[in-house]
Amino acid sequence: MYRFRVCLALLLPAVLALLGCSQTPQFIAKDEPWRADEERACLAAGIVRETTFVAVRDSLGGPSVCGALRPFNVAAAAQGSVQLRPAALLRCPMVPAVDRWVERVVVPAARYHLGAAVVELKVAASYSCRPMNNVDGAHLSEHGHANAIDIAAFVLADGRAVDVKSGWWGGLRERNFLRDVHRGACGVFTTVLGPAYDLNHRDHFHLDLARHGRDGEGRICK
Ligand SMILES: [Zn+2]
Repeated sequence: MYRFRVCLALLLPAVLALLGCSQTPQFIAKDEPWRADEERACLAAGIVRETTFVAVRDSLGGPSVCGALRPFNVAAAAQGSVQLRPAALLRCPMVPAVDRWVERVVVPAARYHLGAAVVELKVAASYSCRPMNNVDGAHLSEHGHANAIDIAAFVLADGRAVDVKSGWWGGLRERNFLRDVHRGACGVFTTVLGPAYDLNHRDHFHLDLARHGRDGEGRICK
């Protein structure tokens, strides 16, 4: 790790880039003005309010193409009743989307299939300035725009945990619960990927609000 330590010591991203000593994979970024417009509209509408579990963040760092105008640090959803661990860094439109999914889909599905309240979601990833699936040279992931969240497991009030990796092909109750929350996510998010999609998603659900198709109205639910 000698090379990495040298990079850290310099502490200047521009210098790092010039020297080519960054360990971060490269990505392709598109010019997408809709992102800032959409985020500004969300912020202006006052949909997301600061609470004890939702806090405004100034910046997310990363190269300028990554990040969000005014990201939020979200530690819980559904009026604080369901913890997000670790807290997720999300842009404005993602905050009500996660809330809606947890409140209207995850909580009722857990009660129906598992007979218990959900108290925590294990967050495998939220903001991360990286290419899709960490493949060098791929397009910038929605995670780079704080427009995505990965959920690996659901913790219940009685201490049980249903994780996507073993539960997707596990017992009937867990299977049905996970399929319901996956299906329900497709009514809230524009991209939903799970274990049935590919090996990269065998252990989590990826949820984002990307725009798909020519008119931006397309949805991916796999
Ligand atoms: Zn993801």
